[in-house]
Amino acid sequence: MKNITILGSTGSIGTNALEVIRQKRDEFNVVAISGHTNYKLVIEQIKEFNPKYVSIGTEEGYKVIKKEFPELNLFLGREGLKKLGQLDETDIILTAVSGVIGIEATVEAIKKGKRIALANKETMVAGGVYIRKLLKEYKDAEIIPVDSEHSALFQSLLAGKKENVKNLIITASGGSFRGKKRDELKNITVEDALKHPKWSMGKKITIDSSTLVNKGLEVIEAHELFEIDYDKIKVVVHPQSIVHSLVEYEDNAMIAQLGATDMKLPIQLAFTYPERESSKALDTLDLMKVGALTFEEPDMETFKGLSLAYKAGRIGGTMTTVFNAANEIAVELFMKEKIKFLEIYDVIEKAMENHIPKEIDSLETILEADEKTRQWVYENFGK
Ligand code: NDP
Ligand code: MG
Repeated sequence: MKNITILGSTGSIGTNALEVIRQKRDEFNVVAISGHTNYKLVIEQIKEFNPKYVSIGTEEGYKVIKKEFPELNLFLGREGLKKLGQLDETDIILTAVSGVIGIEATVEAIKKGKRIALANKETMVAGGVYIRKLLKEYKDAEIIPVDSEHSALFQSLLAGKKENVKNLIITASGGSFRGKKRDELKNITVEDALKHPKWSMGKKITIDSSTLVNKGLEVIEAHELFEIDYDKIKVVVHPQSIVHSLVEYEDNAMIAQLGATDMKLPIQLAFTYPERESSKALDTLDLMKVGALTFEEPDMETFKGLSLAYKAGRIGGTMTTVFNAANEIAVELFMKEKIKFLEIYDVIEKAMENHIPKEIDSLETILEADEKTRQWVYENFGK
């Protein structure tokens, strides 16, 4: 029996993970879960999965849950998330909160030598250098990527030696506005941006997909996870979202992973690896129904999220922390209709220009750059 902790159990990845577990109750036990605002769903999940530890984001939620489950080990807020990262009983911790808020719990789990099923890409973008350093120090700990592209790269990298890798090729659906030009993007509404053609996901990542910032975050995530130079990380638009990514080797062979457009496979693989198991939770892929697979160049001039990410990644240090933090607040401001769609790029660009990057030597360096950027963006764009 493997004990699973899920940070962000109320989200899109979190609920998909619980579906994976639901189909394998004799193999997986839910030891801890966390939600932020959605305490009602947390209560349902407690009833169904009976976790020993729970963390919740709001005082109101805390009171209601405490009243209903007085015996439960219940924690609150950011400290609560961190506590869940420290549990000895955990075998695998799925980090599926949205945003850099997941970083402290991830750090704690590495220090405890756990397997981390990493969905929370913002953690690797904000502080990948530090996470990598910790992984070298705490050798029992490991990260198995859950992000579909990185899961595909992880799987495709098993086919050859790392020193023989020529390129990592990350596929992108192209988001909601593929093919559109700047003029057509000026008056995009929040509702438009939340309609993703292929994937059903949380709000923040759906907006990130429409700006291609998500792909930018993924380029940085790939660099940090696999320690491959930015010159060897390429992005190709693949609207069908069937090829989840590819590795090109020195002999020009391309090894890809294909699958249904569904996060349950990468989630389950991160739980069972190196085993591959059948499950009712998993969709099959019918190639006859898929038909044609197409590939095209990304439009990095219109969708500047990708070019800004390469720029931040190549500068390195805290610049990727700033890229991520500026984007998180820009998306929040866009959703509150305080800035326009294309201004998301301006926020990121200006925040990067305003920042003098530092080498990342500790968690404090990361959190400081993150916090300063958030404040700076609120002050300059949040009025
Ligand atoms: P959702 O928005 O659906 O869920 C986010 C989860 O995080 C919810 O459980 C939410 O709680 C919780 N949360 C939000 N803010 C905070 C906070 N400040 N403190 C603590 N918890 C918080 O996001 P997704 O599931 O779509 O994405 C989660 C992560 O996985 C992201 O990093 C995303 O980039 C990554 N990812 C997602 C994919 C997908 O298909 N969805 C694919 C690849 C990666 P509540 O709802 O209770 O408020
Ligand atoms: Mg992805």
